[in-house]
Amino acid sequence: MGCRLPRAALELDRDTAQSWCVTWIRIPSTESYDVAVVGAGIVGLAHAAWALDAGLRVLLLERDQRAVGASVRNFGHVCVTGQAGELRELATIARQRWLDLGRRAGLAVRETGGVVVARGSDELAVLEELSGRGHEGLGLLTAAQVRQRLGGCGADDIVGGAELGCDLRVDPRVAAHRLAAWLADQPGVDVLFRTNYLGFDGDTVHTSRGGARCQRVIVCVGHDLDYLYPELAETHDVARCALQMARVQAPGGVVIDPAVLTATSLLRYSAFAGTDAAQALRARVAAARPDLLDIEANVMLTQRPDGTLIIGDSHHTEPTTDVFLSEHTSDTLHRAICEVLGVDQLNVHERWQGVYASSPRGDYLVAELGDRVSVRVVTAGVGMTIAFGLAQRHFPGAGA
Ligand SMILES: Cc1cc2nc3c(=O)[nH]c(=O)nc-3n(C[C@H](O)[C@H](O)[C@H](O)COP(=O)(O)OP(=O)(O)OC[C@H]3O[C@@H](n4cnc5c(N)ncnc54)[C@H](O)[C@@H]3O)c2cc1C
Repeated sequence: MGCRLPRAALELDRDTAQSWCVTWIRIPSTESYDVAVVGAGIVGLAHAAWALDAGLRVLLLERDQRAVGASVRNFGHVCVTGQAGELRELATIARQRWLDLGRRAGLAVRETGGVVVARGSDELAVLEELSGRGHEGLGLLTAAQVRQRLGGCGADDIVGGAELGCDLRVDPRVAAHRLAAWLADQPGVDVLFRTNYLGFDGDTVHTSRGGARCQRVIVCVGHDLDYLYPELAETHDVARCALQMARVQAPGGVVIDPAVLTATSLLRYSAFAGTDAAQALRARVAAARPDLLDIEANVMLTQRPDGTLIIGDSHHTEPTTDVFLSEHTSDTLHRAICEVLGVDQLNVHERWQGVYASSPRGDYLVAELGDRVSVRVVTAGVGMTIAFGLAQRHFPGAGA
């Protein structure tokens, strides 16, 4: 039998950059919901926002006081241009949704695009092959144009590059929190933080604060799927991919608007990695920079509104994440970023580990447990890029 949720304070967090600071107290206004969404990372937020636009009454549950998972630890790079096939379709829908929700929620979604820095002819060959196929949004750049997009800095050996015109950027320290705050403000939506989802019996969603009646549940808990549904996680080989990251001072106060990708990025994102030329590039990087492939690096950076640079990343996948950060991995990444920017050293402000769900079986996991519980997990490092597209499929008529 359904029971009423106890009065719970909703405290939406401060942005750590302290550009805004809001605390709301909200008591659930309705006793029963059409849908409960579990997890206030970008995947849960995307589903809650589409549910809202479908005219449903929504309960969003987040176990932490504020989301602190993958969705706030990333680069904030909506990497549309680098995707191919189905991912590109999802990313294209998501791009439009980011722009739409950005306007509605007062979130800065910047159409800065991205830039690929090419420092070898084999890197250029990947970009030229894609450009030759008319890949949408990709435009070749000269070395001088790449340097201009890097704010005037850059390695001496840059030979050219490409503009990724469809890419967007958001500040990852703000985006998820701003969207949650906006959702909490919408009629028909209740958001409960510090509320752990325990399960659903077909009538009542059970939480660490009691129960609420609802029609159905969408579980968007990322890599913690195994805590709730271990058999599903095991069946789909869902593991944790840990990434080492840092925030550094921008050398000389340089302003770099686009997201910056490099040779290792060309080996990861599907549009680049799917070219014929990528094979030769992989062989060369394996021979010349085994240190980067050893840590599965994607050497890239984005700039935050305060001017600091988010740099990364490495990848290490296992079911349970090791808690110890490797100084060797950090050093390798920092050296690689220094090389790209053509600087001797970086002044590090923070280091952290990000973790996302990973599976060798595909880029996302969509599962129905009975007819009332849906599971949605992005199982690759593209959640900021595709989550809104994936969520739209759950509510095909929403916002029409
Ligand atoms: C370092 C790093 C860099 C990345 N860079 C990019 C990038 O630039 N572009 C891109 O597209 N993608 C990027 N990604 C991937 C992207 O961040 C993830 O795919 C995406 O954030 C996953 O979103 P999520 O909502 O599934 O997970 P999360 O953000 O981890 O959210 C899951 C939420 O569920 C909550 N939760 C878990 N269990 C419960 C429960 N029982 N009850 C209630 N709440 C629960 C958690 O507290 C958490 O807040 C990056 C990832 C990392 C780690």
